[in-house]
Amino acid sequence: MIPTDFEDVAQQVATGRLARQSIQGLLQEAHDRYRENREGLQAHYIPALGHADPEHFALSMAHVGGSVFEVGDCGHEFSLQSISKMFVFALAVQHLGRDEVRERIGVNNTGLPFNSVMAIELNEGRPMNAMVNAGAIATTELVPGEGPEDKWVAIHRGLSDFAGRELQLDAEVYASESAANERNKALGRLLKSYGRILGDPEAAVDVYTRQCSLRITTRDLAVMGATLADGGVNPVTGVRVLDADTCRDTLAAVAASGLYERSGDWMFEIGIPAKSGVSGGIVAVAPGKGALGAFSPRLDSAGNSVRGQLAVGHLSRTLGLNLFASAPERWSVPER
Ligand code: GLN
Repeated sequence: MIPTDFEDVAQQVATGRLARQSIQGLLQEAHDRYRENREGLQAHYIPALGHADPEHFALSMAHVGGSVFEVGDCGHEFSLQSISKMFVFALAVQHLGRDEVRERIGVNNTGLPFNSVMAIELNEGRPMNAMVNAGAIATTELVPGEGPEDKWVAIHRGLSDFAGRELQLDAEVYASESAANERNKALGRLLKSYGRILGDPEAAVDVYTRQCSLRITTRDLAVMGATLADGGVNPVTGVRVLDADTCRDTLAAVAASGLYERSGDWMFEIGIPAKSGVSGGIVAVAPGKGALGAFSPRLDSAGNSVRGQLAVGHLSRTLGLNLFASAPERWSVPER
């Protein structure tokens, strides 16, 4: 653990403004640039995802000022999949507090793929973070509610608040994944054996499968992400979904593990916290500025949308979102 002494020290906030206001034009530029890219393969291990049209490509951005910009197949709905993990983590931190969630789940990267069994074994049963399947399955127990049904209601309501509309379950994806998720059930049982799941592990996996099956658009992703960029208030509806500290903690956990074992490379190249899902979605959050939602089904070998990564990377540069980039304030000195 990192030693800290923050108890009586208020959090000050200093984020920059968006460097350029021509968001619509820059979204279009990114879309044009990558729409011919056909690298990667859509996920097939969940049979319903194999039926997706691999040509779909959509980009959205929600600004913390409340405007939303979109290009491409923005009306197309797809399943939320792993992107749900960061928002359910946020609900758990909001409900139980950061220390308890950190103790039960963790906020460090496993260095291993999203569905790894080894990651549990190597860490004495601790799932390590909520952005991989094991951690996400355990996190479903940490949201408010008595049993799995109540917890599902809280998750459904919470994720809908992030989006600013009532999200619907994709019955086909839910049935398809439920019939093909032996591995997640195995993760659930292993976590139970280590005492990291207290209730019925199959019920925890079922709640997790439902949250993964919610239908969203890139616009929803952008608005959900922008709620985390906006101190916990949905910038479109004006509803407070979370406390600002919970947003900060969620984005820190996402920065460490949102792109699984490629998260370090992601931060090195793109420089903003982002979460991907196997249906081809990516949400990327620029604190104090807004969020990008991307969708395109073809994935790389780690399960991340190829076009989505390229487009978000491009936009991070052109919109000036990279958290680590700076330019000298006072001196005009040539670059080395
Ligand atoms: N529902 C998927 C699974 O459990 C989510 C994985 C993902 O999006 N990476 O495998």
